[in-house]
Amino acid sequence: MTPYDAPDAKTTPSTLVDGFGRNVTYLRLSVTDRCDLRCVYCMAEHMTFLPKAEVLTLEELDRIASAFVALGVSKLRITGGEPLVRKGIMGLLERLSRHLTTGALQELTLTTNGTRLTEFASDLARIGVKRINVSLDTLKPDLFKRLTRGGDVAKVIAGIDAAQAAGLSVKVNAVALKDDNGGELADLIAWAHARGCDATLIETMPLGEIEGDRTDQFLSLDEVRANLASFWTLKDIPLVTGGPARYVRVAETGGRLGFITPLSHNFCESCNRVRLTCTGTLHTCLGQDDATDLRAPLRAGIDDQGLIAAILSGIGSKPKGHDFRIVRGDTPAVARHMSTTGG
Ligand code: SAM
Ligand code: SF4
Repeated sequence: MTPYDAPDAKTTPSTLVDGFGRNVTYLRLSVTDRCDLRCVYCMAEHMTFLPKAEVLTLEELDRIASAFVALGVSKLRITGGEPLVRKGIMGLLERLSRHLTTGALQELTLTTNGTRLTEFASDLARIGVKRINVSLDTLKPDLFKRLTRGGDVAKVIAGIDAAQAAGLSVKVNAVALKDDNGGELADLIAWAHARGCDATLIETMPLGEIEGDRTDQFLSLDEVRANLASFWTLKDIPLVTGGPARYVRVAETGGRLGFITPLSHNFCESCNRVRLTCTGTLHTCLGQDDATDLRAPLRAGIDDQGLIAAILSGIGSKPKGHDFRIVRGDTPAVARHMSTTGG
């Protein structure tokens, strides 16, 4: 048992509140920068991954995540890179699930590309994971192979099957890419809804250098929504998650559809989330370069109160918002890749 399992109410605030009065209750934790796919909008084809020594150990990840839970984070999403390629990931998740048992954590979840779900789905369900997000941009094998630079869509679909068979709720996330899947989005959404999955569309964000120009593929979700509304009935659902997604119910399919639109709209005023990279850097805004290094103090032997103070100081500097924009020929708004920060 660490001190974080039984926070001292006298010394530990029960909530994380930033300088603009926003309550931080949601941590996205990247456990690796590595991945078994190379999605064109996310990574360069020949990525140089971090040396192992720079990446937090499973114990360090547990210690920092547990400190956040003790400070009031009630939702923890594990991401990457691809979280399920991290060696020992199930051991970490199992350890973190103790916070579900105590009730400190309401939800432990993950975002995955789905390639290894056939192996892990039943273990995830066993330790108390209830819902997962699976990224899937197309059902077409050739296009999937091109977009992921070599992936096999059948593996992902088998992974979703396994997750649903294990009792997990699956949300299918797709990045909208003008010429690639722009014409297929309605089919993808209908496919997800027919299987009882929610679906969410995401606009490409200018994170990290990739080969090619993102402006070529940027597709505004306002445009997608208007197109879908020409043949479907979309009813707004007042489901506000504190995130940048807004949801509708599609009357014809009965399913829920989310739109994540950091570019055409931002919802920074209600943002409740922060991110920790796999190297222990706390980013309190996906679209800004603000950063607090927690790894150096951790490795220098900081005690628990010191770690809490470092986290509180990072949260205190959470910026008011981002100003993403996609401009032809511009360098990315933020130099780090999504795979480093954690999507
Ligand atoms: N590998 C896992 C996966 O693909 O679900 C988790 C990490 S991935 C970085 C998380 C999410 O970020 C994925 O849904 C992916 O499509 C999305 N993503 C990556 N790069 C992006 C970008 N530049 N703009 C928008 N979404 C991006
Ligand atoms: Fe890997 Fe996910 Fe990035 Fe695709 S989006 S390259 S699956 S980390």
